[in-house]
Amino acid sequence: MVIDGVRCAASAEQTFACISPIDGRAIAQVARGQAADIDAAVVSARRAFDDGRWAAKPPAARKKILQRFAEKILAAKDELALLETLDMGKPIQHSLGVDVPSTARCIAWYAEAVDKIYDEIAPTARNALALITREPMGVIGAIVPWNYPMIMSAWKLGPALAAGNSVVLKPSEKSPLTALRLAELAVEAGLPEGVFNVVPGFGHEAGEALAVHMDVDAIGFTGSTRVGRKMLEYAGRSNLKRVYNELGGKSAFVVFDDFADIPRAACTVAGSMFFNQGESCNAPSRVLVHESVADEFIAIVAAEAPKYQPGDPLGGSAPMGALVDDGQLRTVLGYIEAGHDDGARLVAGGQQVRAETGGFFVEPTVFEGVTNQMRIAREEIFGPVMSVIRFKTEAEAIAIANDSPFGLQASVWSHQIDRAHRVARSLRAGTVHVNQYDEDDITVPFGGFKQSGNGRDKSLHAFDKYTELKTTWIRID
Ligand code: NAD
Repeated sequence: MVIDGVRCAASAEQTFACISPIDGRAIAQVARGQAADIDAAVVSARRAFDDGRWAAKPPAARKKILQRFAEKILAAKDELALLETLDMGKPIQHSLGVDVPSTARCIAWYAEAVDKIYDEIAPTARNALALITREPMGVIGAIVPWNYPMIMSAWKLGPALAAGNSVVLKPSEKSPLTALRLAELAVEAGLPEGVFNVVPGFGHEAGEALAVHMDVDAIGFTGSTRVGRKMLEYAGRSNLKRVYNELGGKSAFVVFDDFADIPRAACTVAGSMFFNQGESCNAPSRVLVHESVADEFIAIVAAEAPKYQPGDPLGGSAPMGALVDDGQLRTVLGYIEAGHDDGARLVAGGQQVRAETGGFFVEPTVFEGVTNQMRIAREEIFGPVMSVIRFKTEAEAIAIANDSPFGLQASVWSHQIDRAHRVARSLRAGTVHVNQYDEDDITVPFGGFKQSGNGRDKSLHAFDKYTELKTTWIRID
């Protein structure tokens, strides 16, 4: 663990094995944090917050330290990328080219923003002055998943730290290594001790202890909808801490027959779906295609899918790596079976591969003839499995796309400007793409409607989660 700026063992001295999904071997023993460790981290974070060693620093001073933190992340890129790939199985070139630079950019972006944001004075009568300021909340508990361990941590750390809070981060038990290294790099960059603590451990132990802690002011959670529900319960039975949930998705990718370049749409959906082994909350896993272009579209997707065949994540050229663990492998294979059982037609993949390595690999898989009532269309699989559904009319496409408990992202493919706008406005999702899917930037908010969560990561809006608005009335005689 990293508490008060130093590496330490769990107080009960327990550990858990960190298994690499590349070959199923244990690569490290990691401290298994429990309630007592969470308490020590929260006490450290509270002390650091209350004495003002970070929160009371001028924004420009916090900016400098966080900029140094971002530089140190980039300088350690080979080490961080290797840890990420060994720990959760994504291809090393993606860890190097996406995860490390995005993490550094996120921290640097919030650092640069923080001394450029002004507070407000309300337009009241002249005999009083009403100042509306943003105050840091205090101690933030950040609980994150394993699919983009560093990036998900940075989306919480960037705005929370820049705003002056202290943070206790609980990484996933499936990918704890980079979070620990990030905490050390932050201290080296000059972040005062206690401002950023990391307690690895299991969800039902360290995670629950953090979420029910009476001295944690807010939880920034990214993970499954099932656990997001618990976060709200934990807040209800403890101190009513603010809960910001970034949860699952089943994003619809809607292709109309007036879109002239069907191959571009088909290649885009394959690239987006199979990136990160399909373990992306915003993967376009429900593909809705107009019946008149469906055969052409499906033939191209089926031909594209094998190009994403998983290979050695450390080899440098595999388009897909390993699923995070044996449990996720079983889950994905179970959904492939459910697709067959429910009557969908397999047009690509469908098998476990590379089992001889001891790792957890599944082929890029495409089902067609899917209906929106099948399990593979309703539930988040979080693996490389795409479901293609045919539709006849625009109204039907909108109805199917919105018939989901989730509302994270969506995409519309149409060359009719009125249709593209109309459908984009009708889709109940936090982000809607038009004629593309992968556009993304730290400057735009990320989050969902419905059971995909509340609050937004990224952009200046993320400061809303980690600050309280305060009004100060000053009488002027
Ligand atoms: P998960 O919900 O199982 O776990 C997420 C985190 O919560 C982990 O750190 C875990 O240890 C912890 N946790 C688990 N049970 C807990 C409990 N009872 N109390 C407290 N903490 C607990 O999710 P996962 O399998 O790690 O990640 C995959 C999920 O994350 C998918 O549903 C995916 O869509 C979602 N996700 C969402 C976004 C987004 O921005 N919306 C981004 C990435 C991933």
